[in-house]
Amino acid sequence: MQLYKSTTKKFTMTISDIKQNLSITTVLAHYGLSVNGSNRLCCPFHDDKKPSMEMFPKSDTVFCFSSNCKVHGKPIDVIDFVMHQEKLSKHEAILKCKSLLGATGGGVAAAPAQAQPMVSEKVRVKTMTAAFAHFQRSFAQSKAAQAYMQNRGLERIQEVGFHDGTLSKPLRAG
Ligand SMILES: [Zn+2]
Repeated sequence: MQLYKSTTKKFTMTISDIKQNLSITTVLAHYGLSVNGSNRLCCPFHDDKKPSMEMFPKSDTVFCFSSNCKVHGKPIDVIDFVMHQEKLSKHEAILKCKSLLGATGGGVAAAPAQAQPMVSEKVRVKTMTAAFAHFQRSFAQSKAAQAYMQNRGLERIQEVGFHDGTLSKPLRAG
């Protein structure tokens, strides 16, 4: 029974198994975080203006150098990181790390944790609608875009948007 075996293995995974198999880069990537060329990143655990946190790939830990930070003063391993990031108990963080390991290979389960869309369909539609409204306004302001449409015989199209590639402000949904 292959399924039974792998399930058993999953539940007997120890903390040291997790630390051995789950890299800090995987955990950072899971939360959309990445380091700069000096292995530094803005600390997610305090209001960080400059990259105060350093990643140590060899030990799979991060360390925040800001004395204003609640995690300052000790290395944060993968489990601690998940615990602080998601405000979980240690036990919950361990379970989360196990599921991350499942999702990143090892053949335990093809968990879709990372494959899930970051935004819901509703938010996506709202964002796209806001974006299109912006492109419509841009079109109305652009002689070149209007001329292009006429030139192509497309002026009868009811709704058209235009983006000149210089979007200055980030778009917000709603
Ligand atoms: Zn910090």
